[in-house]
Amino acid sequence: MSRVYNFSAGPAVLPEEVLKEAAAEMLDYNGTGMSVMEMSHRSKAFEEIIKTAEQDIRDLMNIPDNYKVLFLQGGASQQFAMIPMNLMKNKVADYIVTGQWAKKAWQEASKYGKANKIASSEDETFSYIPDCSDLPISEDADYVYICENNTIYGTKFKTLPNTKGKTLVADVSSCFLSEPVDVSKYGIIYGGVQKNVGPAGMVIVIIREDLITDDVLEGTPTMLKYKTHADAGSLYNTPPAYNIYICGKVFKWLKKMGGLEKMKELNEKKAKVLYDFLDESKLFKGTVRKEDRSLMNVPFVTGDADLDAKFVKEAKEAGFENLKGHRTVGGMRASIYNAMPIEGVEKLVEFMKKFEKENM
Ligand SMILES: *Cc1c(COP(=O)(O)O)cnc(C)c1O
Repeated sequence: MSRVYNFSAGPAVLPEEVLKEAAAEMLDYNGTGMSVMEMSHRSKAFEEIIKTAEQDIRDLMNIPDNYKVLFLQGGASQQFAMIPMNLMKNKVADYIVTGQWAKKAWQEASKYGKANKIASSEDETFSYIPDCSDLPISEDADYVYICENNTIYGTKFKTLPNTKGKTLVADVSSCFLSEPVDVSKYGIIYGGVQKNVGPAGMVIVIIREDLITDDVLEGTPTMLKYKTHADAGSLYNTPPAYNIYICGKVFKWLKKMGGLEKMKELNEKKAKVLYDFLDESKLFKGTVRKEDRSLMNVPFVTGDADLDAKFVKEAKEAGFENLKGHRTVGGMRASIYNAMPIEGVEKLVEFMKKFEKENM
């Protein structure tokens, strides 16, 4: 067996310890004589799994009691529709468009009401976060929407926008559990789990209770109402049971690592290794405005598409996988989520130094 350093943006690297545990429990979970994949979602064993997972994420993120934690299907993208369907009482919402995921969310919301693009960084290929201290927030906006960490472009909101009292909704898919957050500042904070937490196909939605109502847009399917899932403790229908189980293990791992304060410290240290090199390199350079740099996704280029391709190819041969940038931006991107060990980043930088010497 040989594991590579996997810099994929998602689905992405998971803690080896978690994978080993899951492997050990594959045939017989905790004396049940079956895999979690084979078990009733109404069983005692599964009830324990989902309850423990919820409690652990509550502990990790310090989630206030007036918020529900929902484990839902459909990935992050399904939230692009679910949010307006459930929250657009006035049929008005304000969107800050800082990348493709925010843009998709904004376009989807436009199907259900008036979705205003109140700020954007598209003029410079989403390479920065616009000033959001005094935006033209609509008087009757049901919410203000952001994508907090832009996976494709490698930017991150370092301060939350001033929503002038309106409910903030945030997609945190690619920075989920990477640092502490103040949940009480958000109405909804949600993330697809395949970037930093678990297997693809599930989204975790943390939602303030007053936003969970029967007053949803006409025609909203039962499965797309937050209330359906909140009332049933995420067990209205068969949930993504195996995903919940793996996420639960990742939560335990994060607790063992020392929680989110500690993860932030580790993530800062890890990202610094790469950014420091990019800042001094004569061949490679980062593509994002310094103050807006993400700790999780680090895009960089050589400025020459052929050389970029050569780098990606040789890196792969050396055991560094998935460094190719998103198909819409080109270049390279190293995603260095929680489960990427610092050695992975240090070795990547060593490899980049060698490549630089050979190609300058
Ligand atoms: C990956 C990603 C998505 C899409 O996630 P799916 O689970 O594939 O729908 C949405 N938002 C952000 C920020 C992402 O990184």
